[in-house]
Amino acid sequence: MRIGFVGLGNMGAPMAANLAAAGHDVVGFDVAGTTAEGVTVASNATEAVSGADAVITMLPNGAILRSVADELIPAMAPGAVFIDCSTVDVESARAVADHAVTAGLLAVDAPVSGGIGGAAAGTLTFMAGGSDDGFAKAAPLFDIMGQKAVHCGASGAGQAAKICNNMILGVTMIGTCEAFALADKLGLDRQKMFDVVSTSSGYSWTMNAYCPAPGVGPSSPADNDYTPGFAAELMLKDLGLSQQAAEAADADTPMGQLAHMLYQTFVENEGGLGQDFSAMLPRFEKRGRSSD
Ligand code: NAD
Repeated sequence: MRIGFVGLGNMGAPMAANLAAAGHDVVGFDVAGTTAEGVTVASNATEAVSGADAVITMLPNGAILRSVADELIPAMAPGAVFIDCSTVDVESARAVADHAVTAGLLAVDAPVSGGIGGAAAGTLTFMAGGSDDGFAKAAPLFDIMGQKAVHCGASGAGQAAKICNNMILGVTMIGTCEAFALADKLGLDRQKMFDVVSTSSGYSWTMNAYCPAPGVGPSSPADNDYTPGFAAELMLKDLGLSQQAAEAADADTPMGQLAHMLYQTFVENEGGLGQDFSAMLPRFEKRGRSSD
């Protein structure tokens, strides 16, 4: 396939490189002038997508996606598929898909889970929203860039799955960290805490696979001085998207709201910027019941 790839950042560059390594003709563009192995760099976004069978975007947010899509859609060939892999708000995903479909294109929103490591290794999970035809056309590309793709429903369903998953992740990480901090104050050894909880009803991905306590459980960012991993500010972005969606849909999400508030304070006022999202544990460690 001839593929246009717009947004060659931390995630996009390795994803585009994997498509090129699999034998596709990939033409890429990024405003920052970044490149990716095996990818031909275009001088602008429309040049990257003209004549492409598939166009993939991997951009920072919904506002940028909307403006890039306005530029790209008129330049795309009829019948081509527009695949947005960025994490954005559900409304932007649906608006871009509507625009693409009205222009005679197929459209899929397909945010990913798996981070930079998964992007490099080609082991991402894709959560996709859009028509059956769109998903069918995009699926062979998901197979190269990832290990699993779930067709979640109509346009926006991929973003909905992503933000619900990450709302659970943020809430669970905070719960795991505050429980470790309580265990410390009760004199409970962290390894014993892990041994019990990881095989009891309090187990979770944050405890079992990504333990926030250094030296406990499988290797995680906690063992590397909380170098991300998944940065606290990216968790804050995703919790913000889930709250925005909850507002729009009139959903009651008090735990998600509190997690958003805690990550916002952590990132903006407590040195959390640039730290892994599991660095909530040292934050709780330093605090007492009356800390503000
Ligand atoms: P990034 O900032 O490294 O990459 C985004 C790229 O988009 C940048 O290189 C930027 O120059 C480019 N860009 C911005 N405006 C542009 C424009 N108008 N035209 C062309 N290029 C433009 O971010 P990332 O870590 O690669 O994340 C990309 C998306 O994936 C985000 O939506 C993020 O939430 C999501 N995501 C990231 C991770 C992760 O671990 N990094 C995991 C899952 C999902």
